[in-house]
Amino acid sequence: MSRCYYDLHVHSCLSPCGDEEMTPNNIVNMALLNGLSLLALTDHNTTKNCPAIMALAAENGLSFVPGMELTTEEEIHMICLFSSLDGAMEFDKYVAGKLPPVLNEEAVFGRQIIMDKNDEIIGTEEKLLINATEISIDRVQELMKDYGGFCFPAHIDRTSYSILSVFGDFPPDYHFRAAEITPKADPSALTASYPALSEARFLINSDAHTLYDFNNSAFLELSRPTLAEMIKVLGNA
Ligand SMILES: [Zn+2]
Ligand SMILES: [Zn+2]
Repeated sequence: MSRCYYDLHVHSCLSPCGDEEMTPNNIVNMALLNGLSLLALTDHNTTKNCPAIMALAAENGLSFVPGMELTTEEEIHMICLFSSLDGAMEFDKYVAGKLPPVLNEEAVFGRQIIMDKNDEIIGTEEKLLINATEISIDRVQELMKDYGGFCFPAHIDRTSYSILSVFGDFPPDYHFRAAEITPKADPSALTASYPALSEARFLINSDAHTLYDFNNSAFLELSRPTLAEMIKVLGNA
């Protein structure tokens, strides 16, 4: 077992709110500079920049997890991580069919840029990615089984787009094995207020939208820096 420094919530230039400097090469290089062993890309409701980052991460010996920050129909953000790129890309197609047919207005929301591993623009996403999907939080864990994924609620201590802000509680019925908190959160105060949280392991991620936002202080003790090992450890939480 060794310390695996992770950041499992990072946005690229494909997220409308993501800085255009969040290119595949810049993200992988910042992860390496920050000493991370495990990185996930989690753009809003899309995985289309995962192939480029996965290829670059492999070339640089960085363990990469393809992911997505899904907006449920209740407007709760969920981090979905996949054990394979194929599973992630299939889930991307499924989610695309569950997004409202609203086009992105680049002047208002910013560009949604898809890049290859050389940071060349290979396309832009036309549908606005930050809208809520038609997927209920009740279905997300079931969907993860279908697509080979693992999910947990994002930034639960935030006052918007979080499970606590929407439901006013941490519902015990979902049995989430992890819950993401921001670096500013007070874990013991949260558990005191929402006892069901004692079932979940807290994960601290950056939710980086710029190159300056990466988190390099959170770690798990893992035998190898992989999603499978992480899930095993969270299972024993
Ligand atoms: Zn979010
Ligand atoms: Zn996010």
